[in-house]
Amino acid sequence: MKTIGMLGGMSWESTELYYRKINEATKLALGGLHSAPIAMVSVDFQEIEVLQHDDDWATCAEVLSMRARQVEAAGADFLLICTNTMHKVAAEIESSIDIPLLHIADATGERIRQAGMKRIGLLGTRFTMEHDFYRGRLEEQGIEVLLPEKSDRALVHRVIYDELCQGKIDSRSRDEFVRIIETLHAQGAEGVIEGCTEIAMLVSQEHVNVRLFDTTAIHAEEAVAEALR
Ligand code: GLU
Repeated sequence: MKTIGMLGGMSWESTELYYRKINEATKLALGGLHSAPIAMVSVDFQEIEVLQHDDDWATCAEVLSMRARQVEAAGADFLLICTNTMHKVAAEIESSIDIPLLHIADATGERIRQAGMKRIGLLGTRFTMEHDFYRGRLEEQGIEVLLPEKSDRALVHRVIYDELCQGKIDSRSRDEFVRIIETLHAQGAEGVIEGCTEIAMLVSQEHVNVRLFDTTAIHAEEAVAEALR
């Protein structure tokens, strides 16, 4: 089995989920006491969050490229950037390492296409929803992306940073997310992407009547499939 490289800590709440899901998928595939060979570097998210909100993506790219090289040096055969948002600098990170990157939007897009869906809702940070790096990557795969309206995008962004990345689960926020997801469905979304690695902590499939695509689970499962290829 190949060694899975994880660039984590963004936030550690979801990196913990990645670690568990990767090992669960490995156990399911191989049985017994098998667990996944992993090389991980986990960053201090406070520093990254300040750079994001200062719009200093160049420094984000520099810091994360340096960390990705550490993951490679630790023996990883390929890299996961364990957050949707920081795929904004995926190209810079990818060009600074010699191992391949397993892009979260490619893994997610593949799942959506397998489900035969073409029009999809997207929830994530403001950066993921409003900048082009993520939507564009899905559109290249023939997937049309619907976004919540502006005030709902602000709400989702706030809940991600002020609650979920700090491990807070609030049922009022869940009700708001369910409302936003059902609105996207009513507007024609055939499914909705939980395009932030912490959202599945708040909303799971049983809460809504539309198919959810949990990017943490999808990315982790694809990593195990790749490691076993
Ligand atoms: N984990 C989140 C994501 O998947 C947000 C944290 C971040 O900004 O990296 O986008």
